[in-house]
Amino acid sequence: MHAVNSCECPILESYLITMFISLSYVVQGLDMELPELTILSKQMKKELVGKQIAKVRVDNPKCLNMPFEHFQRIVVGKTVKSVESKGKWLFIKLNSNYVLLFNPGMGVDIVYFKLGDKLPEKFQIQFNLQNETGFTVRVWWFCYLHLVLEDRLSEHKQTAKLGRAPLDKDFTLNYFNDLLSGKRGNIKNFMLDQKNIAGIGNVYIQDTLFNARIHPQRKIPSLTETEIKDLYKSMQSVLEKSIKLGGLAYEKDFYGNKGGYGKQHFKIAYKPGLPCPNCQAIIKKIKTGSTSSFICPNCQPLD
Ligand SMILES: [Zn+2]
Repeated sequence: MHAVNSCECPILESYLITMFISLSYVVQGLDMELPELTILSKQMKKELVGKQIAKVRVDNPKCLNMPFEHFQRIVVGKTVKSVESKGKWLFIKLNSNYVLLFNPGMGVDIVYFKLGDKLPEKFQIQFNLQNETGFTVRVWWFCYLHLVLEDRLSEHKQTAKLGRAPLDKDFTLNYFNDLLSGKRGNIKNFMLDQKNIAGIGNVYIQDTLFNARIHPQRKIPSLTETEIKDLYKSMQSVLEKSIKLGGLAYEKDFYGNKGGYGKQHFKIAYKPGLPCPNCQAIIKKIKTGSTSSFICPNCQPLD
């Protein structure tokens, strides 16, 4: 007896993919971006490094890049060497040259537990460590949990082409200028493409563009030197501020605590109908391709 495999039912599969794409437009927004992943990876590093994996459970094996039995056989007994984040991905390095790559998709709760703690009511993934600690993962929609060999990371399509993260030391203003040089598309689409810049999504992009007074649909060649400089500064300050406040108020950290960066810290993001904090014009919500944007039509003119 074989379990029903998605490949056996192409019509259903394409229907589900269409459903997923349309739904993802609706819920797209408050998922984890660079600040949340940066905070999470630091906390995970503190609790997990040096610990051996004793047991693993995965109820949604589609997130894996191999059969669960194979995954389990490799992972159990390995020790966590380091935890880092790049953009929207966590890189959990294990001994024997393995790396666990985790992407939270449209949102997850990754929560640490120790002996005696009550586990969350719902979760799909659980890692138990040798010292009676571990973590659970509740996946809201989908996630990726891929196991790859460290020396073959360059073959992992989703992470190999990730751009630099905006808070990396080598992401300088000169680098940003070089990145934009010769590009033709809209600035917002460009900045959300993880191959260009790793870690910014539809939450932090809103105020990043607003602070620099740039409409999301401005073409890259139309941006002045000053605008690019303002955009660079704004991108860094928005992300740094959120990290300082513990990330988004809608996301939990590794200890189950919500972040402090809430609606009161957004300038125009997710505030349609309210007055612009600079000029009092009414903030508008507009469609920009597959994403929604919030703009002040006065501060961020298109022409
Ligand atoms: Zn305004």
